Amino acid sequence: MNQELNGSIFKEKGIRAFIKREDLIFPEIQGNKWRKLKYNLAFARENGFEQVLSFGGAYSNHIVALAAAGKKYGLETIGFIRGEEHLELNPSLKKAMQNGMYLKYISREAYRSYTQNNKWDAVREEYPNAYIIPEGGTNSLAIKGCTEILEPDEKSEFDYFTCPVGTGGTVAGLIASLEGKKSVLGFPALKGNFLQGDISSILKKEDANYTNFDLIGEYHFGGYARYSEELISFINDFYGTYNIPLDPIYTGKMMYGLMDMIRNNYFPEGSSILAIHTGGLQGIAGFNKRHGTQLREE
Ligand SMILES: *Cc1c(COP(=O)(O)O)cnc(C)c1O
Repeated sequence: MNQELNGSIFKEKGIRAFIKREDLIFPEIQGNKWRKLKYNLAFARENGFEQVLSFGGAYSNHIVALAAAGKKYGLETIGFIRGEEHLELNPSLKKAMQNGMYLKYISREAYRSYTQNNKWDAVREEYPNAYIIPEGGTNSLAIKGCTEILEPDEKSEFDYFTCPVGTGGTVAGLIASLEGKKSVLGFPALKGNFLQGDISSILKKEDANYTNFDLIGEYHFGGYARYSEELISFINDFYGTYNIPLDPIYTGKMMYGLMDMIRNNYFPEGSSILAIHTGGLQGIAGFNKRHGTQLREE
């Protein structure tokens, strides 16, 4: 479902902007995490795996989505969680556990060794029947899932497509599906310049060497899961104006950046923009608890 943003700023600048509500696909397996898991879980089932195993931090959207999707597909799920167990469990891990995921806590060093170059020999030895998905869910089947985000009529209707960026898998899927046409703007949730290279190498691997994308690096608010009061107010105001919930890690930063760019005349008059709401709303409750922020919880 695409929802038009009808604030006066859009009229004033002569542009149109819509939000694609990927957060509404499944409440528990939101947005891009569902797109990324879809073909992976199908593959696991078709190839006789009984378990699916992946990695994540204690608030990971990917972990929560995997637990819910595993339950839906009748696959056992195992989550390797970075750091120590904290009781009571935070809302994200509680949800994962309620959906039947087995949580295994591992040290930060071990986590790094498993996730940095996807070195899974030790994990495979321990769980020989598990299908393993990388941290954040990004692999080739995930990119395939993300090429299905845009419908054919959306690809022709809009000039710009915007998307938050973590590992870059989702934005790579969007870029691949557009086959070199139009412009894609990625909004990194992380600090650093490595993502341009990461995305290019994902695209290269998928035989989709397109360059019609830009990463807008000015709206990470200090880095992953960092925030400011201004961001929190923006998210709350945005909900008040458009009735669309945003999360503080990904979609809130993208929309903050997009609105700022619109104000600063980045987009020529007559442009139309489709912003992808990638979900992530499950993380709000944990974020509020951790930081004492007052974001509306889903
Ligand atoms: C994980 C996530 C992203 C980042 O997706 P990548 O494919 O890792 O770039 C963006 N938005 C939300 C809501 C997410 O949960």
